[in-house]
Amino acid sequence: MSDVSLFWHRRDLRLEDNKGLEAARLSGHPVVGFFCFDQHILDRLSELDRRVGFIHHHLTSIQNKYRETGGGLIAAYGHPLKALQDTIAELGQAGHNVVSIYANRDYAPYPVQRDAEVASWCSSQGVAFELHEDHVVMPPEKVLKDDGTPYTVFTPYSKKWHKVLESMAASPLTPVNSLGSGSWASIDAKNIPTIESMGFASESADPAGWAAFDHKLDPGTVQSYAEMRDTPSAQGTTRMSLHLRFGTVSIRSLMRFGMKHSDKWLTELIWREFYQAILHHFPHSASDAFRAKYDRIPWRHDEEGFAAWCAGRTGYPLVDAGMRELNATGFMHNRVRMVVASFLCKHLLIDWRWGERYFAEKLLDYELASNVGGWQWASGSGCDAAPYFRVFNPESQMKKFDAKGVYVKRWVPEWDTPSYVPPIVEHKMARQRAIDTYKAALAGA
Ligand SMILES: Cc1cc2nc3c(=O)[nH]c(=O)nc-3n(C[C@H](O)[C@H](O)[C@H](O)COP(=O)(O)OP(=O)(O)OC[C@H]3O[C@@H](n4cnc5c(N)ncnc54)[C@H](O)[C@@H]3O)c2cc1C
Repeated sequence: MSDVSLFWHRRDLRLEDNKGLEAARLSGHPVVGFFCFDQHILDRLSELDRRVGFIHHHLTSIQNKYRETGGGLIAAYGHPLKALQDTIAELGQAGHNVVSIYANRDYAPYPVQRDAEVASWCSSQGVAFELHEDHVVMPPEKVLKDDGTPYTVFTPYSKKWHKVLESMAASPLTPVNSLGSGSWASIDAKNIPTIESMGFASESADPAGWAAFDHKLDPGTVQSYAEMRDTPSAQGTTRMSLHLRFGTVSIRSLMRFGMKHSDKWLTELIWREFYQAILHHFPHSASDAFRAKYDRIPWRHDEEGFAAWCAGRTGYPLVDAGMRELNATGFMHNRVRMVVASFLCKHLLIDWRWGERYFAEKLLDYELASNVGGWQWASGSGCDAAPYFRVFNPESQMKKFDAKGVYVKRWVPEWDTPSYVPPIVEHKMARQRAIDTYKAALAGA
């Protein structure tokens, strides 16, 4: 028997600049790659879900890279702990004794629970289980107030984030050499399970499905980010969110680029770390209002209004354009996300959780921490949220950010023609209704 280490890919679908993989390669044992298509997650998705196709596409390319270097990656389909146990048993039969498992840490509630179960089983078997920080530059415990408690407001969090970075002797932004050290275990790995064998349609694996994200970081976009980021008709943002979600790029490489070329863009990457920290420290915020009294709001269970919002038929052009972009591409511009989310929670007075779930289903870059953070910001219930009486006027937002209607026309071709639907709710009335309802609920009336 030869001792080997397993490296478990999760939200890090790359071999380059990968912290956990580097640690596995330095462990002194040859490394075997592992991935599990997690049934617990996959069972809830539609058969056309393009995120599964995206993962499959990138995993195939990773498996090829493992093979080219003389190693191998085993991809399983099932429940992670069982899949790991089976893989370890199979490797044992082939003469490879797994002595350690390495992975990168995930901060969301389900992965935390999954990893705790794996850690407990590993400890009972005498297998080491090590988690590394790769998904963010500053893990949640690293940026705390001086009294050791977590920040709940972004600006002081961000200031401390920079302070911690400056104080570190070794910069956490330095790329790691995950390919250059140690050796790979030579194993005979089967091909990755097909998309169809896991219950998904082959179209879900068509790269055209994630074309909205299909480009490398464009330096020009970062350099002009501060001026262009709020113009939804332009390619003014970087579309890195899907790649960050699944770790097909390294956050360290993006942060280094941001530090050189755009403070504004770097700040957005720090918002992402802030929301990861919030979810970690306040896991209840995944499903409950961060500020409990906002759960007193008597939401309207307006199925019809919700259906019109989902379909992009509210009669508010910017809202409709955003929803149609989302439905067609799996992406929506950040400014428009804020407008559609505010419209649902304030104009329609529909529970932010309905919107959060719809985004979770449709967004290719869906990520629990940022999605909940964005929704709670829009509904006013979040940690550092827009005040409840600030109700975006969707018409003024359009005048400001899409004055010529270039973005709107792209997604709502019938806008400005008699066939466009009239507004489903009148702005002035809806705004006042939202303010009155919030005010009464928060006062405990
Ligand atoms: C209601 C709502 C829901 C959202 N849901 C998600 C989600 O599920 N997944 C997601 O990644 N982002 C979410 N966001 C944040 C933001 O809209 C997207 O990250 C951004 O639009 C992605 O486009 P980009 O990669 O071109 O961003 P860029 O503007 O180029 O920014 C670069 C990166 O910074 C991060 N970032 C930017 N803005 C934010 C932000 N406000 N909060 C957290 N991180 C940010 C993202 O990782 C992004 O890729 C949501 C925002 C709102 C208002």
